[in-house]
Amino acid sequence: MCHTQSTYFNRLYTYFPSPLSAIDCGSKCAPYNAAGVPFCCDTNHVVPSAYQAEWEYLRSSTDLWKLWQSDDPNITSELCAQTPEGQVLIACKGHRYCQRKFRALSCRSFPFFPYINSRGEFIGLSYYWEHEDRCWVISNMHVVPVSFIEQFTLTYEQLFEVYPQEKDNFSYFSKLTRHQFARSQRSIPMIHKNGFGYKISARSERIRRFPVEKFPKLGPYKIAAELPFPGEND
Ligand code: SF4
Ligand code: SF4
Repeated sequence: MCHTQSTYFNRLYTYFPSPLSAIDCGSKCAPYNAAGVPFCCDTNHVVPSAYQAEWEYLRSSTDLWKLWQSDDPNITSELCAQTPEGQVLIACKGHRYCQRKFRALSCRSFPFFPYINSRGEFIGLSYYWEHEDRCWVISNMHVVPVSFIEQFTLTYEQLFEVYPQEKDNFSYFSKLTRHQFARSQRSIPMIHKNGFGYKISARSERIRRFPVEKFPKLGPYKIAAELPFPGEND
């Protein structure tokens, strides 16, 4: 079946070239990373994953990537055990060598995942909460352009047709997200597929419109915004 061939990802990537923001968000978060590089390009913070067919496509097309392995075998085993079936963990040569054309789908989407409600509907983009103290975009979701939202949506709708198991995986992760936010008595910020911001009640799943630019700032970006001259971190 042609969809299982690596060329499928070549085509899927063409649906999703949009940058996450018009400004270089890496320059905003890197100063907060001791390594001085964008958090999502530092495998000490984020290890990209790839579908097996995607990995086949990448490794036959570029020398940018290799399979990821930690120096600590325990960490390697732990993260590999958490990786969904049919995916592998990968590492690129580093942010200075990025090849936009060959960014993995997990790079293109970060920090967002397709949020799926308990009725199984993919309704928008929410973020990986474990990175909310590091990723600048999570504190500045208003910078995400319409082109990104549209391409993200199209790409995942296509992917779910070919890999229905992935919809189940994100459905499960969305459920975990609701639990996580319910525990901390917060509503879940979401950019709806329609482009508007919404807050989702973590308990009732009721959604209500909320201005994207008013979503809370978090971690160091909250502290920076409260300084007398916060403009540097807007
Ligand atoms: S997506 Fe987030 S973590 Fe990655 S470079 Fe942009 S601000 Fe930094
Ligand atoms: S491929 Fe580019 S975006 Fe992806 S982790 Fe490497 S440097 Fe970052």
